[in-house]
Amino acid sequence: MDKLPSIQFAFFCIPAANDGKRDVAKFCRDQMNFASTVWNPKGPPEKGGPVGFTWDNNLRPVTDKDNHFKLIEFTPDGSPKALQLVKENWTVQAGPIIPVFVCYAAWDKLRDGGDKPREGLMKGFTLTKRGNPWFTGDRAILVFITTAQVHTLAHELAHWFGFTHADAKDAPGNVGQEGGGGTHLLDEQYHAMMRWANQADFRNRLNRVKVE
Ligand SMILES: [Zn+2]
Repeated sequence: MDKLPSIQFAFFCIPAANDGKRDVAKFCRDQMNFASTVWNPKGPPEKGGPVGFTWDNNLRPVTDKDNHFKLIEFTPDGSPKALQLVKENWTVQAGPIIPVFVCYAAWDKLRDGGDKPREGLMKGFTLTKRGNPWFTGDRAILVFITTAQVHTLAHELAHWFGFTHADAKDAPGNVGQEGGGGTHLLDEQYHAMMRWANQADFRNRLNRVKVE
């Protein structure tokens, strides 16, 4: 019998997010549980399921001496700091492994406004080519522990599997809708998740190539 496909999550944590004020392990577990409920990884076998969402319960520490990564800035030109954080800590691996960086806070110049970076409202961000022409390096998901809600990782997974907000625009309650919070899944989202779990060439395509 073939081994059941499994999507593994590798959680990284910056020191500012793990300052003793929060239970980071519980945060990660809650994100995982909600995400696996929404993405229905125990779907029927005829649809290719079940897929397991697994975490080794390891919080990989990130070295960040001067709290350089405590506030991650995003402008229309990109986010050098986000790219640096991932580059210093993660290299894409064979197999269905999703790196998730537990960060502290972000400043999104477009949405939070102002010229001086400050802690803004961004809950999560997926570093991937689609929608981010400035993206280079290996893909990763960032979640911001001071603002994230229980559905944040579930929403970011829509981006991870290749979708933009525009794809979910006409699907009320969809997990991929801008702002997050939706729990519905389109068939194509489910299938993309299944393909990503099972097909190395599909993973490579999303990893390496701009998806139009
Ligand atoms: Zn989004």
